[in-house]
Amino acid sequence: RLDQAYIIDAQAKKSLLKPDSRLDHALTNSAANGLPDITITPLQGQYLAIQCQLMNAKTVLEIGTLGGYSTIWFANTGAKVTSIEIDPKHRDVALENTKGLDVEIILGAALDVLPKLASEGRKFDFVFIDADWDEQWDYFQWAVKLARGNGCIYIDNVVRELLEGESEGESLVTKVGREEKVTATLVPTVSSIKDNSEEMFDGFILAVVKESK
Ligand code: SAM
Repeated sequence: RLDQAYIIDAQAKKSLLKPDSRLDHALTNSAANGLPDITITPLQGQYLAIQCQLMNAKTVLEIGTLGGYSTIWFANTGAKVTSIEIDPKHRDVALENTKGLDVEIILGAALDVLPKLASEGRKFDFVFIDADWDEQWDYFQWAVKLARGNGCIYIDNVVRELLEGESEGESLVTKVGREEKVTATLVPTVSSIKDNSEEMFDGFILAVVKESK
């Protein structure tokens, strides 16, 4: 079954993705600068871009920039991207990789930056959560405040704690399910990008924020 998942993913990548020199350069430049290989997958990037196009997102908030690979997927849709990154080296590489795009990268710990954005009255059409796994629930609660009505929140890598029983107390899925202001689902994913079969299974939560939150 893992082999089948592998074949499906590889075939989809080969068939559905078009070359993009900026995305390719972002990956090689990030590797050349020693950044870890922990970006979203190309098919995930395409999914996020389609999701933003479907909802005509003009503003995207990203939590966890790394070298700006996912940032470029969002910016390529024509949205303005505000991205938060704690590591100055990652931020510098991301600035190089996203030069010329409508991208704002804020250096800082997400839990310091998110309250500031909220106090400034900023609102976003789409919020992408991809930083520290231990803080996902805190990010989500800020995302609910920062998303406009009918805006979307995407939380990456939510399956591991369920598979490995890692969470202390309630899982993220349980907590999100109790939040009255959103309607959410979990989409399990398989990917051939990692060789280690345990890491092939993943999943994300997609939530839409209610109009009258
Ligand atoms: N979204 C990126 C992509 O797909 O190209 C990958 C992001 S990587 C998985 C997570 C990033 O979040 C790292 O660059 C890390 O330095 C950053 N990060 C970790 N903890 C953070 C925090 N508390 N606040 C802001 N950024 C954080």
